[in-house]
Amino acid sequence: MWWNQHVILIYFLLAGLQLVSCRPKFSRMLATSSEIVQVGQLTSNSSCGDFQSYIQHGESDLAPRVIRLNFHFMNSQSGAMNYTSEKATVFAHELLKAANAAIESNQKMWLPPGNDTPVLPIGYRYVITSSAGYESERGIYCHHDDERYFFVSRGRNKNNYDRSVIRKYGIGLDSILNVFVMPHHPDSIASPSYDLTSAGIALGSAIKLSGVYESGKKPSEFRGLLNHEIGHVLGLRHTWSGNDGCDDTPTHPNCWNRTSDPPCDSMASNNLMDYNANQHAWTPCQIGRIHQNMSNENSLARRLLVPTWCKLEGEKTLEIRDSTVWNGSFDLNSSLVVSSGATLRIRCRVSMPAGSSIVVEPDGHLILEEATLHNACGLQWDGIYLSSRGKSKGRLTLIGNNLISETEW
Ligand SMILES: [Zn+2]
Repeated sequence: MWWNQHVILIYFLLAGLQLVSCRPKFSRMLATSSEIVQVGQLTSNSSCGDFQSYIQHGESDLAPRVIRLNFHFMNSQSGAMNYTSEKATVFAHELLKAANAAIESNQKMWLPPGNDTPVLPIGYRYVITSSAGYESERGIYCHHDDERYFFVSRGRNKNNYDRSVIRKYGIGLDSILNVFVMPHHPDSIASPSYDLTSAGIALGSAIKLSGVYESGKKPSEFRGLLNHEIGHVLGLRHTWSGNDGCDDTPTHPNCWNRTSDPPCDSMASNNLMDYNANQHAWTPCQIGRIHQNMSNENSLARRLLVPTWCKLEGEKTLEIRDSTVWNGSFDLNSSLVVSSGATLRIRCRVSMPAGSSIVVEPDGHLILEEATLHNACGLQWDGIYLSSRGKSKGRLTLIGNNLISETEW
């Protein structure tokens, strides 16, 4: 319901609630009315659309962001052009393991020289996902199609932007990132002028990777390529040539690696979204933009995520212990407690898992400022409780219009 000062509903839980055994008993109520202070003045403009609101914010406190992937190994009818069966499975799992490891070990940027750009944790990872009706393949598919198995990046038969292979073989494209591993065409391989290096392209919720099988390289050597293409799917642009919307990714001459000669002695990049030998550095801005896209309920990036925020698992509780402002939109997978003496100001959307609640302890303060509290999966959560102990009470302040839904009150 839309909140305003006319909403008056009070539920008292007559029995005292004892959250921790060593604390004195206090009562809690699911309340609005006289306990709520409604004011009209916003403190500043909305921060929900600012990527900087999404850069950090205690990743371990949020629902995990897990991207669903499947793999398609495209092959000729003869079966000679790509990995098949068990080798394809092993390759996919090893590649994904290496890509996840790169995400977990974000590296310091090489550019600009002498920078002090922070190295921040990255809040997502990948999981191979099966689909209903294809359970036996466990998210890794091998296709034999002489018309569509190959990737040609230039020339008369160029097909790197062609989506017909995606339309024919894509599975779960509305919610799973489909990775197509495609060999170069034999005619390309036979041409001395064709560039057989590894390449990729992102097309909606699908990615084509080429130059994989025929390179003979280990799966882990393609982790940068995979992370780069997924970076595009998640909303990032190349950094070397123009404005990518990030101040911490300078333009540069796009060197493949560091060399002893200028400009690549000092101007080589190791950023994910360049073409280079490492592709292992995500900047704070890039991380913020990805997280922001994943929080956008209408984005492709969010549709690819496992909805880890729907239901409360176990007794998980996030406790706010000091003055805290949430400027971005977040999905919790825990209950929320605003502790005594703490203030939490929520300025955007927060999804509460089914079965969870928000408890404001005595002398704690929850401020909703043009906020949305809901369950992003359309399930019911338990609402906001204001606790009291003697004369001390939890406080709830509403600023502007706040939307509270998927709960009883
Ligand atoms: Zn690219």
